[in-house]
Amino acid sequence: LLMAYDPARRLARLQVSLERAAVNARMIYEVLDTVPHQRDQPDAKALDVSSATITFNNVHFAYGNGEEILKGVSFVAEGGKTTALVGPSGAGKSTVISLIPRFYDPSVGEILIDGQDIAHITKLSLRNGLAYVSQQPYLFEGSIGDNIRYGRPEATDEEVYEAARLAYAHDFILAQPQGYDTPVGENGVTLSGGQRQRLSIARALVRRAPILLLDEATSSLDTESESAVQKALDHAMDGRTVVVIAHRLSTIVNADKIIVMRDGLVVEEGSHTELADRKDGLYARLHNLQGSQSAATIEDLVAGEERV
Ligand code: ATP
Repeated sequence: LLMAYDPARRLARLQVSLERAAVNARMIYEVLDTVPHQRDQPDAKALDVSSATITFNNVHFAYGNGEEILKGVSFVAEGGKTTALVGPSGAGKSTVISLIPRFYDPSVGEILIDGQDIAHITKLSLRNGLAYVSQQPYLFEGSIGDNIRYGRPEATDEEVYEAARLAYAHDFILAQPQGYDTPVGENGVTLSGGQRQRLSIARALVRRAPILLLDEATSSLDTESESAVQKALDHAMDGRTVVVIAHRLSTIVNADKIIVMRDGLVVEEGSHTELADRKDGLYARLHNLQGSQSAATIEDLVAGEERV
């Protein structure tokens, strides 16, 4: 029983499921540094992060032998700023995000972080620079504390608590029967959607990575959880380079830069004000459609446009 509780063994099991998950791009890369089996280029160097600016240069990509999904994507996600990817379903937003940790490599073009082509940096150092928060936070078998620590296995207890505090999770964790030792997962306590989100954000925070990749949840939480999750995200985004697949209009409007994608291409980019002023643009059309309707997400807007 003691052996079964050994964190190293759990991490080994986790690797298997991570590799499986990476295959279908709906990956659990909240724990990016535990996927060490892919080989680095012989000339690979450790990533040297300064501002953590991400640059896509004419990136093309196809899954397997299939059709080209990204058809020459170029954009810059400035260091320390928030870049929101928006666009209809299937536009290629998740694919863009999955190329940053190198779950896949572009067929043509390059992705740079602070001027370094990520094809030539070690995966471990790359993934140490990244944290990820997904739409559907994944909880592993184990305690609440373990679930946060998966973000950085060597984190101290105090660092785990600090991440939980910043993620507005500390108080609900202490209210659980065994606090941080409370088991979650199949045989553990059931947490609400908002609590799971906050654990996932704490897991990202404990990584202390300069880049945050975020797939914003579409499903709505109750108002109280929503505001706690939003505050937790604000902490996680603070000072980091954020690339977010944005579904909420508030995220989009507040982003430093909006990248509008359609059919594997960037069709528009700029701030909300710039794009909303471009009357014939996709973004402006989507935004204007909102009008008096109470569209809460970009999907509502796209659906609205399709109805027109
Ligand atoms: P959504 O918001 O619906 O996730 P998206 O803009 O993120 O859309 P992607 O998920 O990147 O778009 O998908 C772009 C295209 O790539 C779609 O046609 C999708 O079917 C295809 N695709 C995504 N993942 C894979 C995969 N693992 N293998 C093959 N095709 C895939």
